[in-house]
Amino acid sequence: MTPNYLVILGGGESGVGAALLAKAKGFDVFLSDQGQLGDRYRQTLLDNQIAFEEGQHTETRILLATEVVKSPGIPEKVPIVQALLAQGTPVISEIEFAARYTTAKLIAITGSNGKTTTTLLAYHLLKTAGYHVGLAGNIGESFAKQVIDDSFDYFVLEISSFMLDAMYQFRADVAILTNITPDHLDRYGYNFQNYVASKFRILQNMRPEDTFIYFQESEAIATELNRQTVIPRQLPVSLEEELPEGGFLKNSILHVRTGSLHFQIAQEELPVKGPHNALNTLFATLAAQVIGVPDEALRRGLLTFQNAPHRLEFVAEVDGVTFINDSKATNVDSVFYALGSFHEPIVLIAGGTDKGNDYTQIEALVHERVKALICLGKDTQKLADFFSGKVPEIRQTQAIREAVAWGLELARPGEVVLLSPACASFDLFKNYEDRGEQFKAAVEGLRVLK
Ligand code: ADP
Repeated sequence: MTPNYLVILGGGESGVGAALLAKAKGFDVFLSDQGQLGDRYRQTLLDNQIAFEEGQHTETRILLATEVVKSPGIPEKVPIVQALLAQGTPVISEIEFAARYTTAKLIAITGSNGKTTTTLLAYHLLKTAGYHVGLAGNIGESFAKQVIDDSFDYFVLEISSFMLDAMYQFRADVAILTNITPDHLDRYGYNFQNYVASKFRILQNMRPEDTFIYFQESEAIATELNRQTVIPRQLPVSLEEELPEGGFLKNSILHVRTGSLHFQIAQEELPVKGPHNALNTLFATLAAQVIGVPDEALRRGLLTFQNAPHRLEFVAEVDGVTFINDSKATNVDSVFYALGSFHEPIVLIAGGTDKGNDYTQIEALVHERVKALICLGKDTQKLADFFSGKVPEIRQTQAIREAVAWGLELARPGEVVLLSPACASFDLFKNYEDRGEQFKAAVEGLRVLK
C-alpha cells in the first residue's frame, strides 16, 4: 500500500471534483472510469495533471489505494469494489471525503422524493437572507470542488441513499428526511428495510445540538423512529396535525414553529403547487428558521422561489388541454403526489425502466382520476397488465411524439395530459431531463401544427 494514495472510481462531476480536492490536499491521485469520460472532465484532469484511465479498471493500480472514493452510480456489487472491500480498503463517497475539508455548517437533505425541490428551496431561503451558502450533493457543482477554497458558511446538500451507503464520519448540523417509499430496490437486494436503513444513515454522528426534520406521516419513518434512539432535536412536519413545534398545514395555511418563533404563509401564495410542495416548503422553511432566517426573508424567499424544470412543470395549453411535464417522477410515490395535484380528469403517460415497482399504491387514485393510460417504453407490459380493466383505455407506444398526440386526442378541453412515468428513463432516453425535453418538444410540435 502506498501511503496517501487516493483512488477515485468514476469520472463524473463528483469524481473529478474529488480528484481536484485530493490533489489540492497533497494526495497522490488516480482516477479510474470503466466508461468514457466527458470531454470537459478529461480536459480538467489533463489540465491539473491528475493521473487517470478510462474504458477499464486496472486492478493492480486500484488495489494499492489507501482509500477509495466511489461514485454513487457504481453499485457495491461490482467486482472491483468487492475486491477492495475484501482486502479492507475503505470505500467512501465524495460527500464523506469533502466534508473533512470544510468548516461550513451542513444542511443535508435526503428522502425518496422531494430532495431536489427542498434542497433548492432551502438554498434559496438562506441566500435570500444574505447568508454565504453553497449548493451541492446530487445537484450542481461537486461538493469536493467547492470546498477547495472553503469560503462558505453553510452548504445545502442533496444526499441520495447511494451516497449515504458510503458515508461514515459525516455529520449534518441539520438533517431533513422528506419520506421513505420504495425506490431503487434493485440496489438493496429487493429488501425495503435495507433501503430504510440506508436513509437513516443521515442521522449518524448527529449531536444533541443538531436538528432532525422529518415527515411525521411517512409510515416507514415513523416505524423506524420507534426502533432507533434519536440524538438530535426532532422537528416533525405534518399535513394532518397541529404541532407545538415543527411544521404543519392547517386550513390551507403553512405554520412553521420553533421555540417562540411562529411563521405563517398561505398555501395559495406559494409559487410551487400541490400537497407535496406544501411539505417541501415546510421542510425547507423549518431548516431556515432553525438557522436563524427572519420571517421577512422567509416570506420574500418563498414568494420568489422557482423550482427546477421537469417537476410538475406546466408546458402549454393546446386546444384547452393542459400538458404537464413531471419527467422527474421516477418512482410510484411521486406519481401518487402528481395525480393528487389535479382535480381534472387525467391522461397519464407513464412507463420506462421499471425498478421493481409495485403499482398498488396508485391503483385507487388511477382508477378515480385517470381516463386513459399511455404506456411509454420498451417494455411496458407489466404496467399495462396491472392497470388492465382499471382504466377505460390503455395504449402502448415507444414514441413520445405518438404518446403526446394520443394525449391530445384522448383529453377533452379542461383536462390534463400528465407525463409522470413512475420509472427510470434509460430505455428510450439519455436521462429524465432528456425525456422531459423531448416531451416538451413534442407538445410544442402539436402547437405548431395548430
Ligand atoms: P427528488 O430529488 O427526491 O427526486 P424532486 O424534488 O426532484 O425529488 O421531485 C421529484 C418528483 O417527486 C416530483 O416531480 C414530484 O412529482 C414528486 N415529489 C416532490 N416532492 C415530493 C414529496 N415531498 N413527497 C412525495 N413526492 C414528491
